[in-house]
Amino acid sequence: APTLFETMNPATGAHLATYAVDDEAAVEATLDSAADRFDAWCDRPIAEREALLEDVATVLRDGKDDYAALITDEVGKPLDQSRAEVEKCAWVCEYYAERAAGQLQDERLDGAPGTKTYVSYEPLGPVLAIMPWNYPFWQVFRFAAPHLTAGNVGLLKHAPNTLGCAQAIVSIFREAGYPEGVFSSLQIPTDRVADVIADDRVAAVTLTGSTRAGRAVAAESGEALKKTVLELGGSDPFVVLDDAPVETVAEQAVTARTQNAGQSCIAAKRFVVHEAVYDEFLDAVTQRMESLTVGDPTAEATDLGPLARADILEQLDEQVRASVDAGATVVTGGEPMSREGHYYPPTILTDVPDGCPAAEEELFGPVATVTAVPDESTAVRVANDTDFGLGASVWTADAARGEALVPEIDAGNVFVNQVVQSDPRLPFSGIKDSGYGTELSKHGIREFTNAKTVWVE
Ligand code: NDP
Repeated sequence: APTLFETMNPATGAHLATYAVDDEAAVEATLDSAADRFDAWCDRPIAEREALLEDVATVLRDGKDDYAALITDEVGKPLDQSRAEVEKCAWVCEYYAERAAGQLQDERLDGAPGTKTYVSYEPLGPVLAIMPWNYPFWQVFRFAAPHLTAGNVGLLKHAPNTLGCAQAIVSIFREAGYPEGVFSSLQIPTDRVADVIADDRVAAVTLTGSTRAGRAVAAESGEALKKTVLELGGSDPFVVLDDAPVETVAEQAVTARTQNAGQSCIAAKRFVVHEAVYDEFLDAVTQRMESLTVGDPTAEATDLGPLARADILEQLDEQVRASVDAGATVVTGGEPMSREGHYYPPTILTDVPDGCPAAEEELFGPVATVTAVPDESTAVRVANDTDFGLGASVWTADAARGEALVPEIDAGNVFVNQVVQSDPRLPFSGIKDSGYGTELSKHGIREFTNAKTVWVE
């Protein structure tokens, strides 16, 4: 088995760093340290854990430029987007630093039996967090901020191409004053994750990543009867009704599709457009996609950097080729750029036939499909015609009309006249192949707690 992980800069192909694969003894030591730390950590008053989390926000802001540079080096995200990612991590820390105690306070049950009955929210123990590379800081802080503050301890299994970010995040918690063992990173390949899931010292598991990885982790966790939260992929519809202000909506559509070079679970991936505005919308979107600046992610003018890895580019290329072979039309883009780095241009596909990858699968890159529909009910049918159910947006001049469609749409998050986004204040979850369980808000922080029922007679 390989003993080293190597990270590469996706914009240049340059070698960045090597990281030793943890041997068995190292994994044992990390699991012991997490399990040993848990009791003392969860016994501390939550106000102390909140104060530490507030300090994490400060460490993040103080080091913002360095962390952003690291993110950009490892995944090729334009620097301003990397800085925004670090800012958002500081925000989620501040959010829970202010609210965790209130969100987890004992809940008295009105009208319940006994002298005193209530629910208390108690942490579960070490939680394994298997995280992806696309938002290598945010995905981790979105997990760690609530769950460490709830009294759990965290074990991060980060993606192999973002191990520099993993180590930086471990250091951030130490710098903020977290005791050793509260948050650690495991540098292990995928085929050694099942043993960690099965280990008695691990209480629960969360994964953000592909549906394939989610199925495997859910099966392994199910075997061990461990709670899981799974945030998997998406193929979000972006529904444009006939009264929508086309120019402004087209601008939002392009932002929603191309943020992070399209490598986002909640990127709008399928534009479903009323035929009355279809031509105008397609023109507006095409023009905007073609005017984006693709290139060096460290240059301030860049809108789109490279895709994060060669295999991500290859998969996208194969999906687009297979869709074109099946009859889809390329309006713009459509093949990898012939330059150094894993660059794929903003791309629009129309006439996408049922059953081809662009219709069925998640396209993790800047490729949008545009489909005309004759009416709202067809729009809803097309929007729901996917195995995924993460986000969806509806665009219209009449917000009430948009809201009326919300109950018809099968997704965990439906936004009207707003780009689907995660926000510490809002619960975030998927249905169908997008996974289950909730992150963020007061709902998210309770996911890895035991809602203990207490009856005092
Ligand atoms: P993966 O789901 O394979 O990777 C995400 C994380 O899960 C990584 O840390 C990975 O580690 C780990 N992992 C993968 N398989 C298993 C397993 N069987 N058991 C335990 N851990 C596992 O995504 P990829 O990076 O390969 O990307 C492939 C596709 O997944 C993308 O094109 C996109 O469609 C989707 N995706 C969705 C994301 C989202 O935000 N929802 C994020 C990333 C990807 P390792 O790499 O070592 O296998």
